[in-house]
Amino acid sequence: MRRSRPPFHLPLWYTAAAGTREATAANTAVRARGMTITFADGTSIEDWCGQYYVNNLGYGRADVVRAMTRQSLRLSWVSPSLFADVRLALTRDLRRVLPRHLTTPQYNTGGSDACESALRAARIVTGRTLVLTLARAYHGDTMTVENLCPPITPYGDRRPWATQTPGPRDLWEKAGRDWARASDLALERAEATLRRHGPKRFAAVVVEPVMWTTGAVPLRPRLARGLRALCDRHGIKLVADEVVTGFGRTGRWLGSESVGLVPDAIVCAKGLTGGYAPLGAVVFERAWGDHLRRHGLNHGLTFGGHPIGCAAARATLRVLTRERLVARAAAMGRRLRSGLEALARLHPGRIADVRGAGLLLGLQLEPGRGARGGSLDAAGRADALIAAARRAGMHLLSADDGAAILFTPPFIVTTRRIDRLLGVLDRALSVY
Ligand code: PLP
Repeated sequence: MRRSRPPFHLPLWYTAAAGTREATAANTAVRARGMTITFADGTSIEDWCGQYYVNNLGYGRADVVRAMTRQSLRLSWVSPSLFADVRLALTRDLRRVLPRHLTTPQYNTGGSDACESALRAARIVTGRTLVLTLARAYHGDTMTVENLCPPITPYGDRRPWATQTPGPRDLWEKAGRDWARASDLALERAEATLRRHGPKRFAAVVVEPVMWTTGAVPLRPRLARGLRALCDRHGIKLVADEVVTGFGRTGRWLGSESVGLVPDAIVCAKGLTGGYAPLGAVVFERAWGDHLRRHGLNHGLTFGGHPIGCAAARATLRVLTRERLVARAAAMGRRLRSGLEALARLHPGRIADVRGAGLLLGLQLEPGRGARGGSLDAAGRADALIAAARRAGMHLLSADDGAAILFTPPFIVTTRRIDRLLGVLDRALSVY
């Protein structure tokens, strides 16, 4: 096969991680429809990862594209320093679906800059600088936000204001694989970390309601309530990173609602537009938003709140509502989860855990022997299953340092496709 090598195109970190550093016809996407992505050589894959949890509605929706086209003809862009009717309309739409206390959005271009905006806003309102996150979380990849995510982003300059505490997955083995105990331990460790640094020095605690990097681990309600109580006690802002979990992914509008977390602000991107255009947002609770309106929030990129992104988000919210796709994500998630649980019973000793919420599910693998002999560590087993799915044309991703498989298809996934995937995994688990 002839190789094309566009000299200007650097692969993104995940492309490089997947070992595809050079463009070939077999790895160059040319079009997509629903949950099928087609490559230049005519082959295609069924997208079980939603292209990193973005493709929630399915590709090729003419209604979303028409809304974007109309917007670009009417008002393609104006400076983020101006009000624009489409930004105001999106704010009204968001208020219809978000919890009542989350009233005041500030629009950005994506998840990382929205996260930075939340950090700046927390500093402004608290007058403090420190930020606490869970170890092995991912909150973005600018040279600020990378500091929230060690050891996932090992390449930056560590800044003294960012500190981590272990999450439930890191304490799960120690807790005898008991999630309730692991969550209680995580809360104790969070409290101890705050105490060690001085809780009144913290501006924000940032957490994901369901943490995808460790294999779709939801915050247990007791941990969610405990973090809220800690933040209340010390005057710290609690920020939920809903970049992946927001807008239906967990079977509720917000992941926070799925796990009983009551945040002071949410950070969103990805599913906010389903990938049809870039857009990020922080949505602040009313009093915090009012404070920022009075005192200002100096955080703005030229294309923050791009009108075409706002139009895509409005159309996305309309589709999610009209087609009841959030409820569909919950129902399809239940179906997939019970199928994965059945596989765990059918193949004892292979699967350590099935977890997650809605269509953000994780399968934790066990180390051990494959049916054909030879020993596999958990990541080796996950790799073998992912490769078997790939041979059947299905694209899955791993998480938890390779030891878990994530399932995050678009919400339009059907029971037929779910059953086909489960069949492929069933056959692969008989071997690996
Ligand atoms: N937060 C989470 C949980 C994410 O998964 C990501 C990206 O994968 C981000 C933030 C950063 O978003 P973006 O890539 O749009 O900057």
